[in-house]
Amino acid sequence: MQKPLVVITGASSGFGAEIAKLFNQEGYPLLLLGRRTEKIAQLPLNFQDVMIESVDVTDYQQFEKAIRKAEAIYGPVDLLVNNAGIMLLGNVQNQEPNEWQQMLNTNIMGVLNGMQIVLDQMIKRKHGTIINMSSIAGKKAFINHAAYVASKFGVHGLSETVRQEVSDKNVRISLVAPGAAETELLTHVTDQNALTDYQAWKNSMGGITLDPHYVATSVKFIYDMPQEVNIRELALAATRQDG
Ligand code: NDP
Repeated sequence: MQKPLVVITGASSGFGAEIAKLFNQEGYPLLLLGRRTEKIAQLPLNFQDVMIESVDVTDYQQFEKAIRKAEAIYGPVDLLVNNAGIMLLGNVQNQEPNEWQQMLNTNIMGVLNGMQIVLDQMIKRKHGTIINMSSIAGKKAFINHAAYVASKFGVHGLSETVRQEVSDKNVRISLVAPGAAETELLTHVTDQNALTDYQAWKNSMGGITLDPHYVATSVKFIYDMPQEVNIRELALAATRQDG
């Protein structure tokens, strides 16, 4: 029997790429989204039943169009992983407000967009799972992370709200809150001082951060539970991460 459709946002690098690999190995039809589709096309995947669409998650119409296109072929989305996100470090005194806006648009509006696009059919089917990618920065503050922390606390808050709204429809809303991991996340930071502080913090942990593979296995673990069981939140970090 054909497995149900899995949609992963931010599949072009980091956690999203690892999550794509795991579900691909198990033969799930995939819709992989990101703006840099050429990077997705280069992932080590079996591309049978893999659809790649260029989507900016802040663009509702574009996001919805891609999902409806995949659903027309593979049936309703059973798992949406709202993973796309950005982290631009800096303190509130100096940081460009435009950077706050980018983070809030991507990390919050992008997640809300994805949820609304798939929720109707999940509620009708009384089946489906949405896993939002938050962060340890969605649970506690970190210096130089004000707008990022605000966005990830937002992801925690909105996920728990929607979880309550749809729990009686047998739809699971869950989130993963990883600690620091080696991905492309830091490559967009423009504030060199904040970047230096971040690297020093990582070095203070012996330079060991979380392997993105374990974020992917956490997502898979949540999804693999029977539909009647919802792992509401899974927080993980490198053992040596202090904060
Ligand atoms: P990466 O920078 O490696 O990946 C981010 C992904 O998000 C890319 O695939 C990027 O694709 C995509 N993306 C960013 N903006 C948009 C957008 N507007 N529309 C569509 N896709 C977008 O970082 P990570 O893998 O680390 O990040 C994944 C998630 O994990 C994020 O939500 C991040 O906040 C979170 N996280 C990361 C941690 C870490 O230490 N790495 C720790 C805790 C949480 P493209 O540029 O091709 O569009």
